[in-house]
Amino acid sequence: MRIEHQCPRCGAPVLLEETDRLLTCDFCKTRLYMQPRDYFRYSFAPADPFLEHVIYVPYWRFRGIHFSCRTSGVMNGILDKTFLAIESKHFTQTLGLRPQTLKLRFVQPADNARFIPPGIPFEKSFVEAKRDVTYETVTVHETRFVRRGTQGDYTEVPITRKELREERIYHEAFVADTMSLIYTPMFVRNGRFHDAVLNEPIFEGPPVYESFPYEVFSGGWAVDFLPTLCPECGWDTIAERDSCVLFCNTCNSAWGTDGQGLKRVAFRTAPSEKVPEGSVRRYLPFWRIRVDLEGLKLDCYADLVRLGNLPRVMRPSWEEPPFFFWTPAFRMTPAVYRRMSKQFTIANVSGEFDDRLPDAPIQSVNLTAQDALDSLTTIMADLAINKKKILPLLPDIKMTLREALLVLFPVTETDHEYIQPDIKCSFLKNALEQGKNI
Ligand SMILES: [Zn+2]
Ligand SMILES: [Zn+2]
Repeated sequence: MRIEHQCPRCGAPVLLEETDRLLTCDFCKTRLYMQPRDYFRYSFAPADPFLEHVIYVPYWRFRGIHFSCRTSGVMNGILDKTFLAIESKHFTQTLGLRPQTLKLRFVQPADNARFIPPGIPFEKSFVEAKRDVTYETVTVHETRFVRRGTQGDYTEVPITRKELREERIYHEAFVADTMSLIYTPMFVRNGRFHDAVLNEPIFEGPPVYESFPYEVFSGGWAVDFLPTLCPECGWDTIAERDSCVLFCNTCNSAWGTDGQGLKRVAFRTAPSEKVPEGSVRRYLPFWRIRVDLEGLKLDCYADLVRLGNLPRVMRPSWEEPPFFFWTPAFRMTPAVYRRMSKQFTIANVSGEFDDRLPDAPIQSVNLTAQDALDSLTTIMADLAINKKKILPLLPDIKMTLREALLVLFPVTETDHEYIQPDIKCSFLKNALEQGKNI
């Protein structure tokens, strides 16, 4: 999805991606942090720019990583759904390929334009799997030994048998998800709705009158553009177009947003024994998360060793809380995200961290602590050795965020890979490239 917007300072056109949080104007070099009051609202432009009395029809859009813990194992995928946000038989239920092929813009005030309010509130349940339990018939191949007569030899007879297998979904999670509202323009002619992008009636047949409530553009829909200057010292912060955390090298601080401006984010830099000094060219950010857990005992590292049946000689100090989960703070392909969360959590990183920002570049932080929290139940299911025992517990597990710390780890790199030698973890660089588009 591509969004065209005019630079708020000089008016030059800027092309944005759906995942962008920073608007950078190539013309006047302005950098602004984009913050909607609730979610982003976009619209397609009518083919006729002078069209009046435009009616905008709302569609919910949802995109993100989907994790599900089910009888057959932990699964992941990418969900990309657009669906009509009102009850109506008139309009198509999805926007089809339109969001990929046409440029969008932020919803703007316009004379005589009316917006149909989303009659169906967005709930994650719309994008979740519809049924908790499904049954599928699977073919089981077996061999039976049959004896000919009482004295004969045994011969192998292959048989196939149909078996009903239950597939139950115990937990679903969405990570790195974006939810937005897309309006598509219409106009009414001869009592019939016309698509204002294609300039044609939206369905053939007799005119049907359907009345909708309407609203006009509200100031609360506008996107706020915040300066990317450090709130502490006023210097420029360092951030990429999709960053949700901005770093200030001048006063050594990190900033995130909570919908009401920039707020300080706690961070540390991990030292490395195995990355040769001077050879570090990049740092990768991870969330270290501490939660209060109900429904499962995981208070200390020893609990994790038991849960995962890890091949470790138990140490008394491991019985002491706290226990920390670790997840990448940058977008990756879902399978690699799960594997790295597992490896970092098992690594039980401890010791002193540095409270200064590193000299080398930091990979853009584009997953929030909330994203990390949303993924933890899945990571826990991944870590458990006895899935049959853990899976039924998942629906009753409650987690409350207690502490989130951003920790920056140095990595070495080859042509194709990033390597963190202290944790013995590596991944292909293209997992990062592909993850950026989620
Ligand atoms: Zn500009
Ligand atoms: Zn600063």
